Amino acid sequence: RTADLTGLPTGIPEALHDEGIEELYPPQAEAVEAGLTDGESLVAAVPTASGKTLIAELAMLSSVARGGKALYIVPLRALASEKKAEFERWEEYGIDVGVSTGNYESTGEWLSSRDIIVATSEKVDSLVRNNAAWMDQLTCVVSDEVHLVDDRNRGPTLEVTLAKLRRLNPNLQTVALSATVGNADVVADWLDAKLVQSDWRPIDLKMGVHYGNAISFDDGSQREVPVGRGERQTPALVADALDGDDDDDQGSSLVFVNSRRNAESAARRMADVTEQYITGDERGELAELAAEIRDISDTETSEDLAKVVAKGAAFHHAGLASEHRTLVEDAFRDRLIKCICATPTLAAGVNTPSRRVVVRDWQRYDGDYGGMKPLDVLEIHQMMGRAGRPGLDPYGEAVLLAKDADSRDELFERYIWADAEDVHSKLAAEPALRTHLLATIASGFAHTREGLLEFLDQTLYAAQTDDPERLGQVTDRVLDYLEINGFVEFEGDSIQATPVGHTVSRLYLDPMSAAEIIDGLEWSAKHRTEKLRALAGETDEESASEREAEPEPDPTAGFQKASEMVSDDGDGDGSDDGDDELEFETDITYPTPLGLYHLVCRTPDMYQLYLKSGDRETYTELCYEREPEFLGRVPSEYEDVAFEDWLSALKTARLLEDWVGEVDEDRITERYGVGPGDIRGKVETAEWLLGAAERLASELDLEAVYAVREAKKRVEYGVREELLDLAGVRGVGRKRARRLFEAGIETRADLREADKAVVLKALRGRRKTAEKILEKAGRQDYSMENVDESDAPDDAVP
Ligand code: ADP
Repeated sequence: RTADLTGLPTGIPEALHDEGIEELYPPQAEAVEAGLTDGESLVAAVPTASGKTLIAELAMLSSVARGGKALYIVPLRALASEKKAEFERWEEYGIDVGVSTGNYESTGEWLSSRDIIVATSEKVDSLVRNNAAWMDQLTCVVSDEVHLVDDRNRGPTLEVTLAKLRRLNPNLQTVALSATVGNADVVADWLDAKLVQSDWRPIDLKMGVHYGNAISFDDGSQREVPVGRGERQTPALVADALDGDDDDDQGSSLVFVNSRRNAESAARRMADVTEQYITGDERGELAELAAEIRDISDTETSEDLAKVVAKGAAFHHAGLASEHRTLVEDAFRDRLIKCICATPTLAAGVNTPSRRVVVRDWQRYDGDYGGMKPLDVLEIHQMMGRAGRPGLDPYGEAVLLAKDADSRDELFERYIWADAEDVHSKLAAEPALRTHLLATIASGFAHTREGLLEFLDQTLYAAQTDDPERLGQVTDRVLDYLEINGFVEFEGDSIQATPVGHTVSRLYLDPMSAAEIIDGLEWSAKHRTEKLRALAGETDEESASEREAEPEPDPTAGFQKASEMVSDDGDGDGSDDGDDELEFETDITYPTPLGLYHLVCRTPDMYQLYLKSGDRETYTELCYEREPEFLGRVPSEYEDVAFEDWLSALKTARLLEDWVGEVDEDRITERYGVGPGDIRGKVETAEWLLGAAERLASELDLEAVYAVREAKKRVEYGVREELLDLAGVRGVGRKRARRLFEAGIETRADLREADKAVVLKALRGRRKTAEKILEKAGRQDYSMENVDESDAPDDAVP
């Protein structure tokens, strides 16, 4: 019984009881018996929805009660705030909760006053690299979804982070939460932890396959769900769950599909089904919800979502804005939305139980695999585990779809009767080791090859491998790479990070990204004059005298920054050797924003956009047109792979160029075939990489630092350069900045002086917004009371 729990802060057992958690679930009880509340390390491998979060909470709270500090590592940024909100209910018992997201370069000293800290593994890794002092005070670390150590991209960071934390503090209690996997015992061995493994679920789960006119379940039962000729299975299953057996039995459905596009189109079809089941009251509430969705942003995705939500359905995928996602999840839990069509991201972590889960697609396109690849058992089981709402449903139903009897049998074999796969470390992959070895050297965890290997010996990789030689070989290759690029130095046996190496590690860059950026910037310094001349439309053959005859650049052309002086000492190499005589002036910034965007887009830290059909031609043409802007040699068309990558980076850079050219988000999503969430993602990554480039440029004393800073600011605000000042005022944003600018209010200073009626009119009559903006711009009398926008001169606001 929760009331009998000991070792927790005062009041918490009673609070749990009041929440309706009177008895521990069996796996939770087993964890407590294993010493969870006494600081014992533990791996809990139990199914979705069987109360893993409470296991984590009991460990963290008892650790805090003993005067310690706990860290909860989440796999996704979106989950960090969700978990923090969940843990904040303990604040009235004196537990302070903090979440650490954002800037990778900070140490988050303010977190030292928190008892429970929530962060992603990337963030924790960067905190370790930046030597956050409070790391030493940690007594308990929880790793949520630890089976993700198997993930090719993100697994190694989690693995190394756990190893480092445990090395910093050998008495650290490690609690790892995992889905049911094949080899949880290996994970437990690695972490020196006890293992709680169970198939127990709070609500029964029936798994089955729909084929023909019925679902066959794993318990041998069948449920008739007829599908009319020419109709599809999914809508029939969704309607069937909503029909229920009596009025109270209306059940919601989660439909899992394999792509965003499919999620959206399936949601449109399901909306026609759910619409028939909503009551008059619900219709009103859904209309309000749809309006709220449209308010969040005016993109096409937002509009599409609002349309289906009005009918009681929704889609959910990583391309959605996070505010949209939260609204959809909440409304689904409140039973207002009856069906969500989602990509598998929803299955990870977010608590959205549903009466029925339909796994429509069990294959997904995989580029490396070269075709449609069946999903892992683990992933399918996680989706299926979302079925069944405790207290609402008699049981949950999870259904796969088959077209014929053979594939029904295959699906039973492949997924329903099958056990989840083992997890395998992905640490030995070179990009992962490159990053983590530099960090391990830079943050002082190891100073010699032997020290590095000893540290690596504490990872899951070492626990799993039967080829200890291999780790040594890759380590040597990686050390070579780091030395050649100037990130580490050898002195006898000792290895040290160079100053640039330290910076790269603190900036949380893949060393390969850093090398690319440094090469690009140094290249641009070397070719500056020649490229500026090309950009000004000149060719090398043109003589200096012809140049002088050209008109001066138009001073009213809208450039505010100081003109750049370009010189050529006339020795024929087009470069400036120092003994210069000024030849001509130009307003062109070099490197150009496109050049810089392309540079950061071709690093391995940026996920590039794919080339679709026709893109190769479009971007090849663009590549030749804008050739002088690229920093570095353009690969020839015969270097197939390299050229293709170059073009993908160009496409991504063009998206950024559109963004800073103030192209509408809608236009951008259409032009590049992405969602609004993707634009945000690219923008945030570019901002981070340009910030890193700025740091590297200043450390290497490169003049490009100014151009980089401006390019970064423009990405941050999504504006042309003349709006940079205005858009920097909190609450303004790219659209409002443009409207203010067009009304003649061009700077922050103008905001302090301007006619309030004009401000109000430019802000479309939004008083609250106008007041907030004026206040942030530093205006004393920011009140909009008694201001009438019709007092603005007619032609003041176009
Ligand atoms: P998991 O993380 O394992 O997927 P959660 O921790 O989100 O599952 O738990 C699912 C739900 O079960 C939550 O709503 C939680 O409040 C509830 N729950 C957890 N433990 C208990 C318990 N002992 N008694 C009643 N409800 C519980």
